[in-house]
Amino acid sequence: MAEAHAADFCPALVGSMSQGAAGNPTVAMVEAAFRHHDLHWRYVNMEVAPADLPAAVAGARALGFRGFNLSMPHKVTVIPLLDGLGESARLIGAVNCVVRRDGRLVGENTDGQGFLASLRERIDPRGREIVLFGAGGAARAVAVELALAGAGRITVVNRSRARGAELVEVLRGGTSTAADLVEWHGDFTVPPTADVVINGTSIGLYDAEARVPVERASLRPGLVVADVVFSPPETRFLREARAAGATAIDGLGMLVNQGVIGVRHWTGCDPDVPTMRRALADALGVSSA
Ligand code: NDP
Repeated sequence: MAEAHAADFCPALVGSMSQGAAGNPTVAMVEAAFRHHDLHWRYVNMEVAPADLPAAVAGARALGFRGFNLSMPHKVTVIPLLDGLGESARLIGAVNCVVRRDGRLVGENTDGQGFLASLRERIDPRGREIVLFGAGGAARAVAVELALAGAGRITVVNRSRARGAELVEVLRGGTSTAADLVEWHGDFTVPPTADVVINGTSIGLYDAEARVPVERASLRPGLVVADVVFSPPETRFLREARAAGATAIDGLGMLVNQGVIGVRHWTGCDPDVPTMRRALADALGVSSA
């Protein structure tokens, strides 16, 4: 009898559910990892309207999906449809990655974990003083993960007081990291005691000249400056930080690493990071350097 080939079996399925799914660059990144590791898996990009989410999740269960990513607008509304939550997803209050474990669909949040993996290539946040601009979904995920990793203090700098105060309450109530809020008016001066400064806002997304209101003279050598914006990866904020002698970390690393963590959760395989970064950069039409 002829030897069975992988293609003779049904592929293991994972994918992404979102509204506005067309052009999702993570498809190329995850599929590249599957090809590189010769995994007979498929990552399916799925357009799902909010009203259809319960049926879509039930469908994924019935079809035996090993897991799936969630993007806008499903990250919060998916929670009651799942069987459990990881610790950071519970604190963040949002899920971007579902993992099937023993038949149960467990919600994780890998956005902040992806950021943390990217940051740790340069600095361990344990005990560090962090300044975080923004308090939206990305900033919230980053803040919770930094706190769970033992950050000493997180100063949330946000334009709208209410959203910033809500994040500070999450950090104070759910973690042992000290947290405070600064309402953002005009240029923020980074205190000399800060170790890490993060742009967690959408300033700079698709606009390489957009300016994060920060006092340039307060950026200095020894400071680690990170941006969650991944397109373009070289933001004005990072250019100015580098010019001031600071270490710069782009948002592409965060996106690649959340994909790496997802693939690891689903397949148990430790995927090749450069392969995924190259595929993502190609899909976004940016340099992967
Ligand atoms: P949200 O809409 O949830 O939050 C946006 C945040 O940016 C808020 O804190 C908002 O402040 C602030 N903001 C926006 N414009 C301004 C401005 N002009 N001045 C001051 N503050 C401003 O967005 P997300 O958190 O979902 O996304 C933020 C960024 O993170 C996006 O660029 C997104 O692409 C990126 N991202 C990157 C990921 C990665 O893997 N690299 C993963 C997920 C997101 P306010 O509360 O006052 O409105």
